[in-house]
Amino acid sequence: MIPPIARRFVAGESAASAMDHARGLNDDGIGAILNLLGEHYDERRPADEDTRTYCDLLDEIGETSLDACISVKPSQLGLDVGEGVFRENLERIVEAAAANEAFVWMDMEDHTTTEATLDAFEAQVETYPKMGLCLQANLKRTPSDIERLADRPGRMRLVKGAYDEPPEVSYTDKARVNEAYRENLEFAFQEFDAGVAVGSHDPEMIDYAKDLHEEYGTPYEVQMLMGVREEAQRDLAADGVTVYQYAPYGDRWLSYFYRRVMERKENALFALRAVLGR
Ligand code: FAD
Repeated sequence: MIPPIARRFVAGESAASAMDHARGLNDDGIGAILNLLGEHYDERRPADEDTRTYCDLLDEIGETSLDACISVKPSQLGLDVGEGVFRENLERIVEAAAANEAFVWMDMEDHTTTEATLDAFEAQVETYPKMGLCLQANLKRTPSDIERLADRPGRMRLVKGAYDEPPEVSYTDKARVNEAYRENLEFAFQEFDAGVAVGSHDPEMIDYAKDLHEEYGTPYEVQMLMGVREEAQRDLAADGVTVYQYAPYGDRWLSYFYRRVMERKENALFALRAVLGR
């Protein structure tokens, strides 16, 4: 059972609770990106199991009219076990998505996985364009990856980057990451006619995306995490901006919850208040 303090960030343990959460979001005009918690498997079995769970979830999404899709992590599909395992599992998920006309996002993990993730995405998106890939502004290679993806079908979500990366490949200074985010965002608005996904809670970046939309006419959507700036998510949706909430679910919630609490003082205080019942 997920304790009440973690429920702010996690949409329950079961697919049924994740679907209920998606229904509630849709009622507020917000789409749902569902993510089954799990990553860095060092054997094939859990990667295959999560793949099956995603395929079942896609069937459930297909049976409803919900605005819901999924986002998968390469290491959850077995990338640490082998690139072949990852690609096989991704293909199974894409087949299930195609059968249900559902959208598949792919998260991006640390820089050692970028090339394999891009290759696997490109191999699938040529035949199934309802896919999108996350790119990270903190990585120095990202402008050329934007260029590479813009020539293909599919979409791109730009985030600042959640992994501690070495300075040879990344910007480590926060101000420089913000500058890179703005540069990459403008480049993406110029390159992706089909639209750009802004994966950020940062009000400055969201305002900047609105300016870029006015300048280039490129459609965009804002994607934020469950439990983070939810009022802003609802306000943006009410203002007519396309908003998706990334909502994790599943029984591996503890480390995810810990990460959310540690990254921001307010989240820790919220958790403490919930424990104290006030
Ligand atoms: P930050 O730089 O953390 O904060 C900037 C400003 O945003 C703050 O000053 C504040 O005004 C506001 N803000 C931020 N957090 C909060 C909060 N909790 N409460 C109130 N205000 C807040 N990273 C990856 O590496 N790979 C992925 O695949 C990936 N997918 C993601 C998908 C989505 C939908 C999102 C939203 C993020 C994803 N990330 C991913 C994480 C991302 O890389 C960042 O680590 C994370 O979003 C924090 O950066 P930020 O742009 O939100 O703003």
